[in-house]
Amino acid sequence: MKLYRYVGPNDLRELVSSENCGTPIQRREDILNWLKSNRSKIPYYDDVMTTFIINTDGLLCLADRHSEHLVCAFGGAVLSAGEMRFLMTGDQVEVIEVTNQSTGYCPEPESWPTVAQALDQLGLSHPNGFSHEFVFRRCLNCQAINIIKEKWFFCAICTSPLSQFWNLDEITLV
Ligand SMILES: [Zn+2]
Repeated sequence: MKLYRYVGPNDLRELVSSENCGTPIQRREDILNWLKSNRSKIPYYDDVMTTFIINTDGLLCLADRHSEHLVCAFGGAVLSAGEMRFLMTGDQVEVIEVTNQSTGYCPEPESWPTVAQALDQLGLSHPNGFSHEFVFRRCLNCQAINIIKEKWFFCAICTSPLSQFWNLDEITLV
């Protein structure tokens, strides 16, 4: 399994603290408790979007959807990261949407099995793959992180050609 280390802006590292890091979900009850406490902010909806990471132990960790993935991961490396939407019906909970949208870690669509495994361990039903797959590339000319759309492998900032391969941790100094 591939580990993704943080590749986003360095100033966000100052936000990392033990108080606001993601909640590791060890058991099914943890998720219900977490969702219920989070839901209290929006009492009429049972549909909760979260920020998630899969930590290096393969555990799902959740944080408020406005949290940075770096903060959710307590500054560490991850197996995957993105957004996860839960649907609660009474005490039943299921995952209805998952994406790998994290510009802090830029995990590949291929990191899905680590997400599925974490959710299976919790006995949660979930989609068969990312609901939307994000493909990230770093421009080695201007360093910008690009999201590839329609197989257009050119930098949106400086129009340089982008690698066909995941290269987010390659940083060349200009
Ligand atoms: Zn560029």
